[in-house]
Amino acid sequence: MAVYQHDVVVVGAGLAGMRATLAAIQKGADVAMITKVHPVRSHSNAAQGGINAALTSRGDDWEEHAFETVKGSDYLGDQDAIEVMCQEAGPAIIEMEHMGVIFNRDEEGRLGTRRFGGQQRARTFFVADITGQAMLHVLYEQIVKARARVYEEWFVTSLVMEDGAVRGVAALEMLTGQLHLIKGKAVILCTGGTGRIYEPSTNGLIVTADGQSLAYHVGAPLMDMEMVQYHPTTLKGNGILMTEAARGEGAYLINKDGDRFMKTYAPNMMELASRDVVSRSEQTEINEGRGVDDCVFLDLRHLGRELIETKLSYINEVALDFANVNLAEKPVPIRPGNHYEMGGIKTDVNGRTSVRGLYAAGECACVSVHGGNRLGANSLLDTIIFGRRAGEAAAGDAQEVGESELTESALSPEREAIKKLMDRAPTSDTPAKIRLEMGRVMNEGVAVFRDEAGMQRALRTIVELKERYSRLAVHDKGQVFNTNLIFALEVGFMLDTAEAICLGAIARKESRGAHFRTDFPKRDDEGFMKHTMVTMGPRGPEISYTPVTVTKWKPQVRSY
Ligand SMILES: Cc1cc2nc3c(=O)[nH]c(=O)nc-3n(C[C@H](O)[C@H](O)[C@H](O)COP(=O)(O)OP(=O)(O)OC[C@H]3O[C@@H](n4cnc5c(N)ncnc54)[C@H](O)[C@@H]3O)c2cc1C
Repeated sequence: MAVYQHDVVVVGAGLAGMRATLAAIQKGADVAMITKVHPVRSHSNAAQGGINAALTSRGDDWEEHAFETVKGSDYLGDQDAIEVMCQEAGPAIIEMEHMGVIFNRDEEGRLGTRRFGGQQRARTFFVADITGQAMLHVLYEQIVKARARVYEEWFVTSLVMEDGAVRGVAALEMLTGQLHLIKGKAVILCTGGTGRIYEPSTNGLIVTADGQSLAYHVGAPLMDMEMVQYHPTTLKGNGILMTEAARGEGAYLINKDGDRFMKTYAPNMMELASRDVVSRSEQTEINEGRGVDDCVFLDLRHLGRELIETKLSYINEVALDFANVNLAEKPVPIRPGNHYEMGGIKTDVNGRTSVRGLYAAGECACVSVHGGNRLGANSLLDTIIFGRRAGEAAAGDAQEVGESELTESALSPEREAIKKLMDRAPTSDTPAKIRLEMGRVMNEGVAVFRDEAGMQRALRTIVELKERYSRLAVHDKGQVFNTNLIFALEVGFMLDTAEAICLGAIARKESRGAHFRTDFPKRDDEGFMKHTMVTMGPRGPEISYTPVTVTKWKPQVRSY
């Protein structure tokens, strides 16, 4: 057991965490970056399709990008934040390129773009279909070069408070099983999304809502958690992502009769309407009997083998390995599947939460730039813009904070809680059983189409699972790399967050973005053009609302 001290503590080493770390170091702060997996194994590594930016040198206009993001969000995104993101996007892409990201180029040798959904213009920069991997590895090089202190394979179990402010974290060193105190004058959560609350999901098994729950437990509100994105093209059976870049390059969506059904739902944008719209269209085709085995098809045959093998080689391999389909020869069965959480820990454009000393950036945060529905390729952008801003703000604020008096005794409650979990006698219940049950009910009740009864059923099950969780035992009693303990802690984080998702969804009695209720099928700007906030109160979760910031773009009917 030890106590470590830094100016800024960043939890997470995905794109947001690494960008925040780099920014804080450049501001002169002593920074610790903590991650439960090796940095380049973070989920950002799985990002495929690309990153958006409107480059003026390409005749593009940031305001057009901003408007399409606002429209994509179904008017729930905060327009001041969206303006910041879209204005800073161009320089951020160039900066990444100068750091070493080998973005694809066009025939003239300039940075190449492809078109993504919900946007009229091609403004998505990409590295084949491994954009996240390319960016993450380059940022990791910068982290190594900057000699950042990385606590690798350390698992943060709770935030540590002093005089009402966050001043550190309790972290389990996974190799030894020891719990340590890492003090920071500022703590930035960059812990990623919530994907594994659902089953299946495109997200890695490590995407378990840790930061959302950590922040929620110290009083930070979770905003718009009901806005859960289902991606239109996830592979039959296992939910692996087939990137939107396939449609960006021209792939079709067809039903069992070979019809390009999107002409019925989005005659102008067709397959490149925004994700909520395409997912609902597919689900309608499936529900009305025009699918096969709960799936429709993604058809790339007309794109030709060469394009598929150069620009979409990764999904080509995935389709072959996991569905036995050669994309140049056969349409591949796909369906809408859990992909992304638009909501998160509420922050301002500099990553500050309402709790002193606590910051958040990346998918775990809600700035809010995605509102009710995120445009494809806007999330990688979100991570590097708001990661940098949070890093700079935290490093600046830390200069004003004095030395903390916290000692190792601050870990006592956490040590007690873990000991209780470890000492309990094993039963037949396991973290995996609880997780799968949670994933199933969420995927049934809080998915593409929702109604009161289904959401209430999901909420009831989550509350029952929380009760079961309070009696859960960890079967492996060892100290070294106790993944059984880690899974158990992760399931706890997910149950808290799942409850917030259900509560927000039940309370929003309208349809907006990814939240579509068959019992309230219309958007209700009068009643619900506002952000849902779920806060942990003394007697459990409490719901309140806060207004949406509108700058230039008044709500309009949304059609594609
Ligand atoms: C398959 C897939 C493809 C995607 N493709 C695209 C795309 O093409 N374009 C786009 O814009 N977006 C895409 N997205 C979304 C985007 O990749 C993510 O939203 C984004 O990368 C999240 O980055 P992050 O830094 O917030 O979190 P992550 O990359 O998920 O990193 C989270 C970090 O937090 C750490 N962590 C978490 N909990 C703890 C804990 N308790 N203790 C210590 N460390 C912890 C983890 O170790 C990890 O380092 C895709 C997502 C998926 C799943």
